[in-house]
Amino acid sequence: MKPDLFQAPDYYLLDDLLTEEHKLIRDAARAWVKKEVSPIIEEYAQKAEFPKQIIKGLGEIGGFGPYIPTEYGGAGLDQISYGLIMQEIERGDSGVRSTSSVQSSLVMYPIWKYGNEEQRNKYLPKLATGEMIGCFGLTEPDHGSNPGGMITNFKDMGDHYLLNGAKMWISNAPFADIAVVWAKNEEGRIHGLIVERGMEGFSTPETHNKWSLRASATGELIFDNVKVPKANLLPNKSGLGAPLGCLDSARYGIAWGAIGAAMDCYDTALRYSKERIQFDKPIGATQLQQKKLAEMITEITKAQLLTWRLGVLRNEGRATSAQISMAKRNNVAMALEIARDARQMLGGMGITGEYSIMRHMMNLESVVTYEGTHDIHLLITGMDVTGFPAFK
Ligand SMILES: Cc1cc2nc3c(=O)[nH]c(=O)nc-3n(C[C@H](O)[C@H](O)[C@H](O)COP(=O)(O)OP(=O)(O)OC[C@H]3O[C@@H](n4cnc5c(N)ncnc54)[C@H](O)[C@@H]3O)c2cc1C
Repeated sequence: MKPDLFQAPDYYLLDDLLTEEHKLIRDAARAWVKKEVSPIIEEYAQKAEFPKQIIKGLGEIGGFGPYIPTEYGGAGLDQISYGLIMQEIERGDSGVRSTSSVQSSLVMYPIWKYGNEEQRNKYLPKLATGEMIGCFGLTEPDHGSNPGGMITNFKDMGDHYLLNGAKMWISNAPFADIAVVWAKNEEGRIHGLIVERGMEGFSTPETHNKWSLRASATGELIFDNVKVPKANLLPNKSGLGAPLGCLDSARYGIAWGAIGAAMDCYDTALRYSKERIQFDKPIGATQLQQKKLAEMITEITKAQLLTWRLGVLRNEGRATSAQISMAKRNNVAMALEIARDARQMLGGMGITGEYSIMRHMMNLESVVTYEGTHDIHLLITGMDVTGFPAFK
């Protein structure tokens, strides 16, 4: 792969809206990605393997639970810092950002918000350093966009719960130490349970042959009469709103992350357009290629502004789930369009692993699908503005 010469576009001088601390955190994450992710990520994506050696570094740059309070091992940062870290990680690779998002928002967040003090102290410090890796089991083979229909269930056996069912498409599953699993009790109410690797009847087979997020491990979670200690139930929230609360946090991070992928594609295409000569002039001097670049930087700038504002609202506790849906949907679609155009701008070279664009493009096909598909987020906006749910 070519050396990482990335230069971040900032067309509207948005750095002026960031604090010195934001910029320091962002620049540290950017430098780490250049040093530790860019040189190896193509090889790991090609061989469809998660690069486990970067886990410790991800913890050190705040990639695991950046907003979790320091008393539980988190970095205690604000929502804009969290977003900037996700942006930089996904600039390197969406699969690596997925590991970070799952650990932060789908494992640490529910333990912090819905768990008790004992659970927080037991799991959060180890998750923050990456000593322990987690995954989040919501999606089932027959219940993706409609997780409320889940059939995974647990029964109260007196001194423990008995868990049965299966989850599918679970990021980090093949090597995770713990899983936050959403299942229904005998009354049909959804609860979160912490299932640990090694519990009898719990297995995590890997999902192979993906063309997307190849540097992220995906798998199933299978529960065959798993005895879960009662102490592992998250006591402080139940119902579908509990997993959806985690998704709000993860989707917010994805909105920032997608900007990172888009910036990388734009920056690569811009540099290439100045160097590649056809018909005796750089392709960047032609109107058609300038149109692509001009539209890319316009869309990136709009997404940066939208997402920064959402970060301010999150810091103030005022961001709604529907606002987060809008940003996730807009930014991922924007990044995917930019990846497709950028790939074309590199001609044949665009399909090779010499450049990051095709990997981003394929990764973004998962990002546009997980954490609520492009169409589901549109329906959320539609419901928000009209008051009519159009899901059924
Ligand atoms: C690589 C990867 C990693 C993932 N990681 C995780 C994870 O860690 N944990 C987890 O729990 N899940 C995870 N997922 C699952 C992901 O969240 C689901 O794939 C997603 O929610 C969509 O569900 P589905 O694939 O079952 O598609 P479906 O729900 O079957 O949707 C199929 C199509 O129908 C459309 N559709 C569905 N309902 C409606 C409707 N009412 N109106 C109009 N159109 C509709 C959808 O938009 C979509 O285009 C992951 C998925 C992938 C691909």
